[in-house]
Amino acid sequence: MHGPVAIVAAMHEELSALLAQMPDEQRVRVAGRDFWVGHLQGQPVVAVLSRIGKVAAAVTATVLLERFGVRAVVFTGVAGGLAPGVRVGDVVVATELLQHDLDASPIFPKYEVPLMGLSRFVADRAIGDALSGVAAGVLRDPVALTGRAAVEEFGLQSPKVHRGLLASGDRFVSTTAESEALRRDLPDALAVEMEGAAVAQVCHDYGVPFAAMRTISDRADDEAHGDFARFVSLVASRYSLALVGAWLATLPAVS
Ligand code: SAH
Repeated sequence: MHGPVAIVAAMHEELSALLAQMPDEQRVRVAGRDFWVGHLQGQPVVAVLSRIGKVAAAVTATVLLERFGVRAVVFTGVAGGLAPGVRVGDVVVATELLQHDLDASPIFPKYEVPLMGLSRFVADRAIGDALSGVAAGVLRDPVALTGRAAVEEFGLQSPKVHRGLLASGDRFVSTTAESEALRRDLPDALAVEMEGAAVAQVCHDYGVPFAAMRTISDRADDEAHGDFARFVSLVASRYSLALVGAWLATLPAVS
């Protein structure tokens, strides 16, 4: 395995703490995005903000694969919880990803990517196992992770790790009616976000391992908008740094 690991997030608040830990970083600007090339936990990485949505994420993934020769892509950020036990402050590590807003029926089955015969993209098992393992450890001490004030404000006392389906689409899901419809149509979806499945599709085309890990920022319901901005700025970047950093530290040293 050669090449750096790509760490991708959609928004600045999801990656700012991690970028602050990359002292030797060099900025390479491609397609209007800053790709930060450097090291984290001794591992070569490229960190980048994709911006929000499936197309922005797909462009970013393509540049990472074509220009930076990355050996794996890991997406980190926040998502809205869908399944009943998936609460604010929990972490979801994807096993599969699907585009919930893709529907070329009746020509192709709903959710299927036309001409690919696939609706669900499988995330890399080994990276997912490693991420869930470190997440379980990191979440054992929520106060150390985000500070007591955030734990109390958002009720982060006993965060959990979940593994399963992540649904992606070009919609910020912020009504109870829409999240109920998603739960009905995709009963096994754990959470909803706006980028993961697009990056998974690009990585599938290139045959490069992909993994996604999301901190739950809201419940994708009528209250989602209120919770969202404050949670992302106070909590998301600390989760990303702690979890991605702990995972990178488990990788074999690069000489
Ligand atoms: N109103 C927000 C919009 C951000 S979009 C703002 O002003 O910044 C939401 C981002 O967080 C996306 O990158 C998406 O991947 C993730 N996300 C978190 N909760 C979500 C939800 N309920 N529905 C869809 N995406 C969500």
